[in-house]
Amino acid sequence: MLGLMQEWPLLCHKLIDHAERQHGSREVVSRSIEGPIVRTTFAEIHHRALKVAQRLERDGFGLGDRIATLAWNTARHIEAWYGIMGIGAIYHTLNPRLFPEQIAWIMNNAEDKAIFVDLTFVPLLEKIAGAVRSLRRVIVLTDRAHMPQTSLANAVAYEEWLAEADGAFAWKVFDENTAAGMCYTSGTTGDPKGVLYSHRSNVLHAMMAAMPDAMGLSTRDVALPVVPMFHANAWGLGQSGPMIGAKLVMPGCKMDGASIYELLDTEKVTFSAAVPTVWMMLLQYLEETGKKLPYLKKVVIGGASCPRAITAKFQDDYDVQVVHAWGMTEMSPLGTLCTLKPQYEALTGEARLDVQGKQGFPPFGVEMKVTDDDNNALPWDGKTFGHLKVRGPAVARAYYGGAGAEQFDADGWFDTGDVAHIDASGYMQITDRAKDVIKSGGEWISTIDLENLAVGHPDVAEAAAIGIPHSKWGERPLLVVVSKPGRAPSKGDILTFMSGKVAKWWMPDDVAFVGEIPHTATGKIQKTSLRAQFKDYRLPTD
Ligand code: ADP
Repeated sequence: MLGLMQEWPLLCHKLIDHAERQHGSREVVSRSIEGPIVRTTFAEIHHRALKVAQRLERDGFGLGDRIATLAWNTARHIEAWYGIMGIGAIYHTLNPRLFPEQIAWIMNNAEDKAIFVDLTFVPLLEKIAGAVRSLRRVIVLTDRAHMPQTSLANAVAYEEWLAEADGAFAWKVFDENTAAGMCYTSGTTGDPKGVLYSHRSNVLHAMMAAMPDAMGLSTRDVALPVVPMFHANAWGLGQSGPMIGAKLVMPGCKMDGASIYELLDTEKVTFSAAVPTVWMMLLQYLEETGKKLPYLKKVVIGGASCPRAITAKFQDDYDVQVVHAWGMTEMSPLGTLCTLKPQYEALTGEARLDVQGKQGFPPFGVEMKVTDDDNNALPWDGKTFGHLKVRGPAVARAYYGGAGAEQFDADGWFDTGDVAHIDASGYMQITDRAKDVIKSGGEWISTIDLENLAVGHPDVAEAAAIGIPHSKWGERPLLVVVSKPGRAPSKGDILTFMSGKVAKWWMPDDVAFVGEIPHTATGKIQKTSLRAQFKDYRLPTD
């Protein structure tokens, strides 16, 4: 017997409809690419998204077409997303930090037919557009006055193009499993792989993201998504923001400490989300200027492991709650978030930081397990680590075009490629990427643990641990360190600091000092190039 409840397909444009009706006057503030701060509202964004939809349809685009965006976080980018999804087309966020050839490869793989591009990236697009066979429309996210001279074919200024529509348009209606968005993982090895979100997965993910022990958003919040829309959907904030009616503050292209501080302060931001490097820049700026954070209540930190020192500083010096989070493009992207369950609420000091250093537990809608190499489930004891596998309604069940099929099993589990353990309270902790883990004498050493420990040293700005071949042990850890400006710690200083805080056999065999550690397009340490850089390195212990 079926239930007698209504069919109400979970379509993304319902989010912006809701925002318009319930939170129409709530502001969306952007640092525009042209320079000034511009203010709009959810009602205005809704109206302009309808115009985008109408205008795209007039240009001949419709159901299933991939429409790229190469843009920073701004209100215009949000309008473009909803307009694209509202005709059943698919927004495809491109990461501008990738190499131009990689972006062209991705656009060809997705067969993007049109692109919304920020002024910043027009020169980049000019270099590759000729190589993208499917591309037939370029919409530059600016007005006529700022439209640059360009060699791009069929290029038009967004505001001019939009002015040709009146917004008298009804969203298209289709099955909730219809594709809504697309994002490629940066793929440190091999070609990038496309993840194809559906309307249903986006809406469910927005609900999961907003829950109290996830991001915990309310309409009274002022949310600043520093994490880019091109990096795993701005962690869902482009959908959960309108759903909740939180005021949004969009940082545009400026993410340095001073620029982020200015927005936090003038817009009275209560909530923000970004990768650790952004927060390091902000904290350094605050230290230099002596400024405080009177409005900010909570920051979600993820994308890479959040060093304990960042959590401690935010909470002790600025009274801002830190929520460590883990996820990935394939998970829309939220997987786990670290808020405190009742049994941990009373913890203080180091014991509290120990829990907060974990990546946390999943909201309803994400199942997880850790397994050994033979897919046997491992105990939740907080120390036995293995392959982290997940499933849920906002987790990919395949990559676009069928790449990476070996990561998906018959029971619906997706192998994240991460190595983790889960404790008896259900808190997961990432110890490594499967391909980065150091195998010493048949046992695994967590590079993340070593790195987090090393950056706790007051003279260390950044640290990365990699495995170096060793004739006796197979591999042993080398710690690569960037010192803080004006500081020159010695190898002995760092090893003495770490000693006693990890198992003896985990201790790095050597420390190498470098000026800079390479990063990927999503801000993670690029272990592949670091390993290449140290491929002829001989450990003193060998
Ligand atoms: P990309 O590979 O394109 O950077 P993602 O941003 O989707 O793609 O990266 C997801 C990966 O980032 C995860 O599989 C994990 O290895 C890493 N990661 C994300 N958050 C954390 C975290 N809090 N701690 C440790 N690693 C993390």
